[in-house]
Amino acid sequence: MKCCFCNNDEAKEIIKPSGTFTDYDILKTKHICSFCNSIYKDAKYRRSCWILNNKDSIFFSKDKILENILNIKIKPPFKVFITTSYKKHGYYKTVWNYSLDNFQIRFDDLDIDFGKEKAIEILNIIETFYYNGFIKKEIESGKYNIKKLLTFGKDKWLENERKIKLMRGTPLFKFLLYCINPKRKDE
Ligand SMILES: [Zn+2]
Repeated sequence: MKCCFCNNDEAKEIIKPSGTFTDYDILKTKHICSFCNSIYKDAKYRRSCWILNNKDSIFFSKDKILENILNIKIKPPFKVFITTSYKKHGYYKTVWNYSLDNFQIRFDDLDIDFGKEKAIEILNIIETFYYNGFIKKEIESGKYNIKKLLTFGKDKWLENERKIKLMRGTPLFKFLLYCINPKRKDE
């Protein structure tokens, strides 16, 4: 029997949808393989962000997203799920990734094409903006407070803004902005 989540032909168990599962459309069969079922039944995969491969799972919270995805410590193929609700199942919407430099992240309802090089380039700029007093709303909308802008330096601002302008509104941009952590008080 085919697994309702991964199409594996060795699905011998019957899925028991839990109360929190609302995407019944996705279930193609009632059968589920033991690997998918072990993840599906374990609430930790709903209540945490994670990276997994067929052997290991790494769980982390919001403040550790960047350090985990920029330095993935398990071998491909792997899956990445980032939740903002800490409630919903996302496992069955994730895909297997084979490259550590270019992979797909399931970010709640969005698929993020995460090219590491590009992501770091954007991240450096939006972090510079954020840690220099611009708020996420300004960076997200492109509507900056003029006073802050002048304090930051108009030329420096323009040079950086030009580089991120075209990425604004993309899933990757949205995702990276979400991941930036507030500056710690001792920094
Ligand atoms: Zn499966």
